[in-house]
Amino acid sequence: MAAVRAFDYALSDSRVIFADGALNTLGDSVDDAIGASRVLVVSTPGRALFADRAREALGHRLAASFDKARLHVPVDIVAQAHDIMLACNADCLVAIGGGSPIGLGKALSRETGLPLVAVPTTFAGSEMTDIWGITDENGKRTGRDKRVAPKLVIYDPELTRTMPPHVAGPSGMNAIAHAVEAMYSESVSPISSLIATEGIRLLSEALPALSSERSESHAVALLGAHYCARALDMTMMGLHHKLCHVLGGSLDLPHALTHAVVLPYATAYNAPAASSAMGQIGKGLGGVNGDDVPTQLWNLNRELGITQTLSDLGVRESDLDRIVDQATARAYPNPREVTRAGIREILEQAMSGERPAMGE
Ligand code: NAD
Repeated sequence: MAAVRAFDYALSDSRVIFADGALNTLGDSVDDAIGASRVLVVSTPGRALFADRAREALGHRLAASFDKARLHVPVDIVAQAHDIMLACNADCLVAIGGGSPIGLGKALSRETGLPLVAVPTTFAGSEMTDIWGITDENGKRTGRDKRVAPKLVIYDPELTRTMPPHVAGPSGMNAIAHAVEAMYSESVSPISSLIATEGIRLLSEALPALSSERSESHAVALLGAHYCARALDMTMMGLHHKLCHVLGGSLDLPHALTHAVVLPYATAYNAPAASSAMGQIGKGLGGVNGDDVPTQLWNLNRELGITQTLSDLGVRESDLDRIVDQATARAYPNPREVTRAGIREILEQAMSGERPAMGE
């Protein structure tokens, strides 16, 4: 029998509603959970139809809308939204869409303390965390602040059905990446590990079935994404997230796809120093051996049509030194020592897209 490690965890104080059609009763849910009467709706032009439905459901509680949220939360967009928030005297924020509008909602909440309601339409998972991010001329900064954790999260699986495969697949792999890193995190607990395993299991089962007519797959994938996001919120991320953060921030790469491309190689690098975590991830991936986890993640990418390499995303050989510099500039917890040679090896493999080789 394995020994039980000491642990310490806290759950964010949010109410979570998961139901088909939950968007239609958004107004009542806001009344119950927050009691707000002047709501600012934050979204993107791409999700205009969902934002319309949110406005309709809010009815008399709607104060104003802002639909210019962008990936990585640029500081000038935060300033524009902030002006509208002040002008309409908002007492609550509703962010509807993927991680971009939810990230903007968090930035506004951090500045003002206004309660945030998140209605996610991808599997990214920002809705369950107290992690904020903002991008200015010096790059992307992130941090943790209890105030930004959404007070109410509305999961309506129907809203994820409009994601085309090239959005849904990477978004699901982004969620799996949270669970993979949660599993070998310094702050892992038996609870986060259990949740992460189940998140991987649900997503790895549902993602390949999303394009079929099986109607339940989106709900199963969204539940899996919720678990992965919970695991993310309960732990600290390691090398994989650090590297994707540097790649995304300095080369403006697509967030979810970068995670999907790098994950098999970052996992292969960490595997020799995280054998029990790999065993757990293997269980989630349908019972594969821990040693086969990186290859299984690579296979899952292919099954989802994710065959791109970092080169395909526009990364050039000449960028790699700078990425290595940034990814090793500061120490952070990771199961295996982070070395320049190690990061270089992960990047080289992700540039070519080859089947992952296990680290020594
Ligand atoms: P996103 O919101 O930019 O959405 C990705 C793409 O999917 C966009 O083109 C969007 O228009 C489209 N889209 C969204 N929902 C759709 C739907 N239902 N149907 C069709 N298309 C849809 O990005 P994302 O991948 O959801 O999230 C990434 C962002 O979230 C990054 O900035 C990342 O740093 C952040 N993030 C933060 C946390 C956190 O805990 N703070 C966690 C995960 C991600």
